[in-house]
Amino acid sequence: MKIERNDFGVVNGQPVDLFVLANDAGMVVKITNYGAIITSVNVPDSTGKLADVVCGFDTLDGYFSEEYRSNAPYFGCIVGRYAGRIEQGQFALGDQEFQLAKNDAANSLHGGTVGFDKKVWAAQEVTDEDSVGLNLTLVSEDGEEGYPGEICIEVQYRLTRDNAILIRYIATTNKATPLSLTNHSYFNLNGFSSPILDHRLAISSNSFLLIDDDNVPRGEQTRVDGADDFTNMKPIREAFEVLPQGFEHYYLFDKPRATKQEVAVVEEPQSGRTLRVITTEPGMLFYTGFYTSDTLQRESGASFGQFRAMCFETSKYPNGPNIPGSPDSILHPGERYFEETEFHFGW
Ligand code: BGC
Repeated sequence: MKIERNDFGVVNGQPVDLFVLANDAGMVVKITNYGAIITSVNVPDSTGKLADVVCGFDTLDGYFSEEYRSNAPYFGCIVGRYAGRIEQGQFALGDQEFQLAKNDAANSLHGGTVGFDKKVWAAQEVTDEDSVGLNLTLVSEDGEEGYPGEICIEVQYRLTRDNAILIRYIATTNKATPLSLTNHSYFNLNGFSSPILDHRLAISSNSFLLIDDDNVPRGEQTRVDGADDFTNMKPIREAFEVLPQGFEHYYLFDKPRATKQEVAVVEEPQSGRTLRVITTEPGMLFYTGFYTSDTLQRESGASFGQFRAMCFETSKYPNGPNIPGSPDSILHPGERYFEETEFHFGW
């Protein structure tokens, strides 16, 4: 296993790097400390042929193109302070009310105007017996994007000997603040040779959060039924016949809070590639890229776009600060935020 550090360019006068992580089974994962973005995940297929299975760009410029910035699909980044939408960008803690930057119609989305996806993180390479990886750290100032408290965040990425990408999220704060971090990678296990419709999927969940017309959950839960029921593995295509916009469903897990369990399994029959998602989080937004622009493509070829990739955004409840009983949406001083999500690949 090895890790290499290469120049990737300059953002706001700060140099940024591209880290190339490789294991002995042939997986190659590229991560930049700009936005803590996973830019590329090369995985063999059942014949040993490598393909890139995530949306991303080969150059830093790709993330700054007008097309990409105006579409804002958040390819591969760490989203923070709060993943998903916060209704009207507002929430209250005790008797204090807070107003966040609104960057998605009337709502705040994915941390606001300059979320963690647009920050340059400090990076430290880490190598041990079973993995190579990076520890990425960031300090978010008190008041940033309207959020209270200075928080210190560490995201640990590891590529393991046995073909998993492990992500560990650690944070502390000096004032109570909403915090829900996720990785926003979009996967297509056939390497973008076709849309995701023939992928087979299982999700260990019996319910999801209903959303309003602006895609904001208000707390109401409903049981899975028919198209949105993935308790038994099935091809995604079936669901699209009933759900023309695909999925933007936050699935709730039945598992006890903070236990680490397998929550989703994906199989792609043509390539033989598989993906298992394991997490400590209470739920996961399953998003199939309804809003991704069809004009976006990797410099080396792969075409992205609507329904051409899917996200498994393990996180706290979207709009959690406004949903009574939403587990752990607020981090308090003295607490240590600690969550883990793992993406295990097979072929
Ligand atoms: C949201 C989508 C949004 C996408 C890119 C997803 O997490 O559910 O509504 O378009 O992120 O910002």
